[in-house]
Amino acid sequence: MTASPTRTALVTGGAGGIGRGIARALLAAGLRVILADRDASAVAEAAAELNAEAAAERSAGRTAERGAALRAASGAAHGDDRARPLVLDISDAAAAARAFAALDPEGGVDVLVNNAGILSVHGAVTELAPDAYRSILEVNAVGTFTMIQAFARHRITAGGGGAIVNISSIGGRQPTPGMGAYESSKAAVDSITRWAAIELAAHGIRVNAVAPGPVLTPMLAAEMPEGSPARVGWAARIPLGDLARVEDIALAVAFLAGPGAAHITGVSLPVDGGQLLT
Ligand code: NAD
Repeated sequence: MTASPTRTALVTGGAGGIGRGIARALLAAGLRVILADRDASAVAEAAAELNAEAAAERSAGRTAERGAALRAASGAAHGDDRARPLVLDISDAAAAARAFAALDPEGGVDVLVNNAGILSVHGAVTELAPDAYRSILEVNAVGTFTMIQAFARHRITAGGGGAIVNISSIGGRQPTPGMGAYESSKAAVDSITRWAAIELAAHGIRVNAVAPGPVLTPMLAAEMPEGSPARVGWAARIPLGDLARVEDIALAVAFLAGPGAAHITGVSLPVDGGQLLT
């Protein structure tokens, strides 16, 4: 019996808090991962960190010190690295097409995770500048569309099959004052998910989304330690009692990208501790 070939995933925003966790979960599921991000130094550091973790597990077991792991990874041959960085701006359609074409000789990409996004545009509907609104749609909605288009063309040329997981947000369904620009960009991601799912099903390409509630990324976890008033205030809104961990989001993505979800397409799965029920 021949072993099935290793699948490859491309995770956008791979340098960020959630993207890194998604990459870690996909590596654990046995995939190779391309971490794509517009931040060159951060994405190189993220790939090095993930390869260091893998090297630590291979060479010294789970108790290895992180410093030793980093030294092992920096000395590892590139061919051993299952996480690789790629500098890519998801709003650049030509660059997206080039990125997939460049991976063709290595067997192409099987899974696309559209995680890159910006969260930083806030403002009331009476105040927000139209250019600020355009800027968030350009990344979160147009960027997601652009990546789906490039990936779908890549997969169809290869004979079809594959999976896309988009990261939206429960904000796309549940409004918070001042957050509407971000939230409507994420409602667009949920809609694009259904649009692409219905059209790409004929090619065997599944398209789903994970819609997180607030997530304890390393940055947020540092800002809101357990027991702090901010953390307690957020947690009070969540029926299951706390914000999501990065792993909660990452494991849902790995499920939707994997064989267990073979008959699932067009869904946006809330991972929100029940917040949408409130
Ligand atoms: P983050 O800011 O830590 O990471 C986002 C990453 O995307 C960064 O590394 C950034 O460089 C990259 N990026 C931004 N624009 C890009 C572009 N044009 N091209 C390529 N890369 C680009 O954010 P995060 O908290 O890890 O969020 C990841 C995703 O999860 C986002 O889509 C966000 O909207 C969504 N989300 C986050 C939360 C949360 O609580 N953090 C909740 C719901 C949804």
